[in-house]
Amino acid sequence: MDMSNEVSMGNEAAFSRACASLVGGVNSPVRSFTSVGGSPFFIREGHGSYVVDIEGRRYLDYVQSYGAIIHGHGDDGVLAAVMDAARKGTTFGAPTLGEVELAERIKAKVPGIDLVRLTSSGTEATMTALRLARGVTGRSKIIKFEGCYHGHSDALLASSGSGVASLGLPASVGVTPAAVLDTIVAPYNELPKIGEDVAAVIVEPVAANMGLVPASAGFLQELRRLATEAGALLIFDEVITGFRIAEGGASTLFGVTPDLWCFGKVIGGGLPVGAVAGPEEIMAYLAPTGPVYQAGTLSGNPLATAAGSAALRQLNSASYRMLAGRAEQLAFGLTKVIEEADLAVQIQRVESLLGIFFADEPVTNYREAVSSVERGIYAHFFHAMLKRGIAMAPGPYEVLFPGLAHTVDDVDKTIDIASAAAVEARDL
Ligand code: PMP
Repeated sequence: MDMSNEVSMGNEAAFSRACASLVGGVNSPVRSFTSVGGSPFFIREGHGSYVVDIEGRRYLDYVQSYGAIIHGHGDDGVLAAVMDAARKGTTFGAPTLGEVELAERIKAKVPGIDLVRLTSSGTEATMTALRLARGVTGRSKIIKFEGCYHGHSDALLASSGSGVASLGLPASVGVTPAAVLDTIVAPYNELPKIGEDVAAVIVEPVAANMGLVPASAGFLQELRRLATEAGALLIFDEVITGFRIAEGGASTLFGVTPDLWCFGKVIGGGLPVGAVAGPEEIMAYLAPTGPVYQAGTLSGNPLATAAGSAALRQLNSASYRMLAGRAEQLAFGLTKVIEEADLAVQIQRVESLLGIFFADEPVTNYREAVSSVERGIYAHFFHAMLKRGIAMAPGPYEVLFPGLAHTVDDVDKTIDIASAAAVEARDL
């Protein structure tokens, strides 16, 4: 078998080769084309807002590694930091100042955070946050919201969004009933009853794994009030929203302070990083200062923390004005051209995050998201866009990530192409 990557190989051949060695040819189900049909293209490289596949085709990329990239692919500042770090060694299993710097940068941007624990993924961050909340409160139950995705730990897979929703998987296969016994699932945008056995309520402050569903007015504020009243912790899963929808993320944008934050994506600058963060009185429960155990061989990895610090260092209030401006231009243009094609559409947007629902009315929860997706238009629109060079996520429950590398011209081009793609999707 020739295992070299130098031989020129088309996407179809690459996918066959991948399927022979990787489950379904991918390392994360959201990358498969299972829900839209067809097989994925293989990326050779990415520059700014574009990616190039192994056949040399260029796509304007709105996936941006599902939001892990905010400055565009191959950002100079991030690359320089990673290369500089790599020359000094890739991992030590001992403290480095790079970890401290990233934690300080997170603290500086988000009021209310005293201490940070870095992990290597968002999944680990949310899993740790739950264990910590249970450890601090001595309670067992957690409340999550239908259609929110918090990574793939057992307790949090119940009624999950993202790939779980796209593949229509019963979330509990392989998860024991005992593991989800303490997970209570509530509809998004409805206030749950928080009993005295509830350790924590975990929420995406802007739901971005069932398409883009904003929290309705007062929802987060009321959750905060109810959680406090019940003695439960409020956990904001800001793995997507953190440092993307505002300089301080959702808690600063909405003026609601949770007890714990989970971060990922942007704070790793495109390398694997997650974080759980909060006030000292809660965070100090984690080992080694407290009894709640959590660890990681590669946690706070020097390359990842260098990339993350470089990404955060380059973000300021002007970045967020620019991001929101691009997203607004995109949302306005997409709505116009898709409606002109006589398709009912809701482009839902919070700052720079947006999602496309082919629906008559705004979507406010998972049930409504599912009924919009069941119209089946997204898959057609996705392919119509892709063949014209615009890459969106190959799943109807994901969002678009316009970033700092997307230019006004990129967005104009996207809207032009969407005009033709919408007509094609309607006629299929
Ligand atoms: N929480 C949210 C809100 C997410 O969107 C994701 C990933 N898309 C996760 C947690 C899990 O992060 P990771 O994939 O890094 O484990």
